[in-house]
Amino acid sequence: MKFEAIAVEKIPLIHKGDDLPSIICKRIELKDRDIIVIASTIVAKAEGEIFRLEDITPGEQALEIAARTGKDSRFIQAVLSRSREVFVEAPFMLVTTLAGHTCVNAGVDESNIENGFLLYPPENPDSSASKLGKELEKLSGKKLSVIVTDTNGRAFKIGQTGVAIGIYKIKPIKRWIGEKDLFGKTLEITEQAIADELAGAANLLMGEGAGGMPVVVIRGLDYYFEGNTSIKETYRPENLDVIKKGLRCLRN
Ligand code: GDP
Ligand code: MN
Ligand code: MN
Ligand code: MN
Repeated sequence: MKFEAIAVEKIPLIHKGDDLPSIICKRIELKDRDIIVIASTIVAKAEGEIFRLEDITPGEQALEIAARTGKDSRFIQAVLSRSREVFVEAPFMLVTTLAGHTCVNAGVDESNIENGFLLYPPENPDSSASKLGKELEKLSGKKLSVIVTDTNGRAFKIGQTGVAIGIYKIKPIKRWIGEKDLFGKTLEITEQAIADELAGAANLLMGEGAGGMPVVVIRGLDYYFEGNTSIKETYRPENLDVIKKGLRCLRN
C-alpha cells in the first residue's frame, strides 16, 4: 500500500481577492479523488482577513488580560474578536472560535505575513473549503476533496501538527466501531481522525516557515465522499468534553 503527497510548487505570495483555484490548477494537473490540502494562511489572505495591528482598538477585556499577561492588547483584542469562549488566558489564550474550533489564539497568526499585520483565520473554514472545492472541480473536471488546515498544539504533548479546520467532500472520521481486530474481537470505541491525519501528512511538506508550500495534493487514498460533511463532526459534544468542563471549573 502507498499514497503520494505532492507539494504544489511556485505558488506566489497570496493577496486579498486572489483566485486560489485557478492559481492551483495552473500548477498541477489534478486527478479524480485527489485530496487538495490548503493552508488556512493563504485562504485567509485570499479572503482578505488581514488586519493592521495599529488599526485594532483593544476593548476593556483585552486591556485587562494584556495588563495581566504582558501581551499586546491589540493582539488579545484580535483573538477575542474571533472567540466564542475563552478557557485559558495565560500563558496563552486557549479559546473556542466563532466557527467552533478550539485552539490557541483563535488561529490569529503573525507568521508568514508582513510585519505589523495580523492574519485572522477564515471566518467559516467549511464554507471556504467547499467554495474552493467546487471551483477546483469546475476548473479540473475532476471529483475532488478539500481540507483547509492550520497548525495547532496538542494538550499533552510538545510539538504542533497540521489539523483540519474545514473540509469538502471527505468524511473527517472513520468509524472502526463494529469492525474486527486481528483476533476477531469487535472494536468498540476507535474512531480514526482521517482529516486531521491527512492534514498532518500534508503539513510535513508545508512546514511552518519560509518554504512557500501552502498547497499539498494527496493522491492514492480513497476518502472521497459525495455528500455534505463538516469539520464540526469532529468537535466533541459539549456534554462529553471533560477537558472543557475542567477548564471552566478552574475559571470560576
Ligand atoms: P498555517 O499552518 O495555515 O498557519 O500556515 P503557515 O503559516 O504554517 O504556512 C504553511 C506553508 O504555507 C509554509 O510553507 C509557508 O511558507 C507557506 N505560505 C504561507 N503564506 C504563503 C503565501 O502567501 N504564498 C506561498 N507560496 N506560500 C505561503
Ligand atoms: Mn503561520
Ligand atoms: Mn496558522
Ligand atoms: Mn502551519
